[in-house]
Amino acid sequence: MPRVWNFSAGPAVLPEPVLKGIQDELLDYKGNGLSVLEMSHRSAIFSSIIKEAERSLRSLMSVPSNYQVLFIQGGGTLQFSMIPLNLNKGGKLGYVTTGVWASKAYQEAVNLGFDAVEIASSKDDDFCHIPTYEDVDFSEFDYIHITTNNTIRGTQYQEFPDTGDALLVADMSSDILSKEVDVEKFDVIYAGVQKNIGPAGATIVIIRDDLISENLVNVPGYLQYTNHAKKHSVYNTPPAFTIYAVGKVLDWLIELGGVSTISAVNDEKAKLLYQAIDNSSLFYNKVELDCRSKMNVPFTTGNSELDSRFIARAEEAGFINLAGHRTMGGMRASIYNAFPMAGVEELMTFMKKFEEDEQNNV
Ligand code: PMP
Repeated sequence: MPRVWNFSAGPAVLPEPVLKGIQDELLDYKGNGLSVLEMSHRSAIFSSIIKEAERSLRSLMSVPSNYQVLFIQGGGTLQFSMIPLNLNKGGKLGYVTTGVWASKAYQEAVNLGFDAVEIASSKDDDFCHIPTYEDVDFSEFDYIHITTNNTIRGTQYQEFPDTGDALLVADMSSDILSKEVDVEKFDVIYAGVQKNIGPAGATIVIIRDDLISENLVNVPGYLQYTNHAKKHSVYNTPPAFTIYAVGKVLDWLIELGGVSTISAVNDEKAKLLYQAIDNSSLFYNKVELDCRSKMNVPFTTGNSELDSRFIARAEEAGFINLAGHRTMGGMRASIYNAFPMAGVEELMTFMKKFEEDEQNNV
């Protein structure tokens, strides 16, 4: 069977050369006579795999040397509690709720009993824009938490806020490595790898050294960044195979030309797809123009029956995972780094044909 065009929001499509490389090494990793799947995480071979993955990420994102790069399990979701547990200094914690995941991060801090405050939200317009918040007194806050790309509604920060005295913490789960960012503008960045960097199972945390607290009271060991940092991400058994695959995806990106190269491709893919939606008289996207995401592109006909027909026909034609998130309906095309331009072009042709068929009542 030929490979389908996979528009999944995550776990998402991986670069074909990466999958083939993994296949080649699956039974015998580099002449060692065993698979990475079977390897001790304390072995010298795995140590070099994880070190190399970290090195590649540091080079791709130009991570300054006073930041740690950690691989942790538990997804973006576990970071929703690790962030407040490790970074609170007893003051207020500010959250910008720009979508379902951003709201979950806020809610987790509330549930843990912290003084978490929604400093701005786009809930009132169905999360269709990224709010600004210039009048906030940042000195009252230990940190401000933002979600740089909102996977479900398809909005994305184009510029990042200056949060003055408060730390800036960013969930970049769905746009990390898709465009150049200045790591130094952030105090902590975290991202589940299963969208832009690999298969599910690991979360990357980039955190400035001086923010890693020692001796946190009443915080389980696994939830303390210090333990992961001291043990170089092998505090306990890590998701070794995922980290290996992450290394492969990072190598692929380096070979392609790095973040600036993929960013230009991402711009082009998103431009074409939004143009197709805007030029159509059947489909629309209701996100504010200057907040549109280049990673997740939701669209709808406004008629759920027609949307379902589109999704079913698309699936027959080899375009899978185009259904919008269950809380939103409609369609969503996730076009992360590894999603090829050819798939976007074929989807556009298919959308056009579907629209013509509907007009002719086929
Ligand atoms: N943050 C964002 C922006 C996400 O899109 C997601 C998952 N789609 C999460 C956090 C949660 O990630 P996980 O499932 O890895 O816990």
